[in-house]
Amino acid sequence: MKQIVFATHNLNKLAEIQPLIPGGLEVLSLDQIGCVEAIAETATTLEGNAQIKADYIWKYFRQDCFADDTGLEVEALEGAPGVYSARFAGPEGLANANMAKLLNLMQGQASRKARFRTVIALILVGSAYQFEGVVEGKILEEPRGEGGFGYDPIFQPDGSELSFAEMTLEEKNKMSHRARAIAKLCAFLENIIRD
Ligand code: IMP
Repeated sequence: MKQIVFATHNLNKLAEIQPLIPGGLEVLSLDQIGCVEAIAETATTLEGNAQIKADYIWKYFRQDCFADDTGLEVEALEGAPGVYSARFAGPEGLANANMAKLLNLMQGQASRKARFRTVIALILVGSAYQFEGVVEGKILEEPRGEGGFGYDPIFQPDGSELSFAEMTLEEKNKMSHRARAIAKLCAFLENIIRD
């Protein structure tokens, strides 16, 4: 079976993506290829960080691979927290602290428009490709819902009355940034496999 490496240590992400990947292609995590180190994400853009992770795997393991990076981009904050979403309120990366900081900064802002954006960098036989998934929405006045993770309780996608945290995983996956980027990656891989 042909294999592709997903540059993540997160087994939940791996489990989420494996059923979506075209048949005949097995997705391996970093741990499965013996890459135990954390790859430093030192870029200032989502594109840059996704590429750093994919380049690292190609450089040291010479395997076809892809990597993702996601951020919440808030219009009134000129795109912040963006690439710094995970550790917006400090190095511990606590979701509640990140949301509290964001809600604080949103006080008095005229626009609450925001979007989640995922970038996936793919390296296939040494050639690089990128795919983007976006979901537009707004930052709520206060957290709503118990599901999801990260900023889900304060993000409501356009066209929905629910926050991401009030949706089932299935509902969120129908419109999420990550699902949209993954769909583009999968369509691309499907074409390659068919050729
Ligand atoms: P990552 O690149 O997937 O690790 O995402 C970086 C950070 O963005 C996470 O630590 C979360 O704070 C936030 N984030 C990413 N995806 C989501 C999502 O689907 N819902 C809420 N927050 C997210």
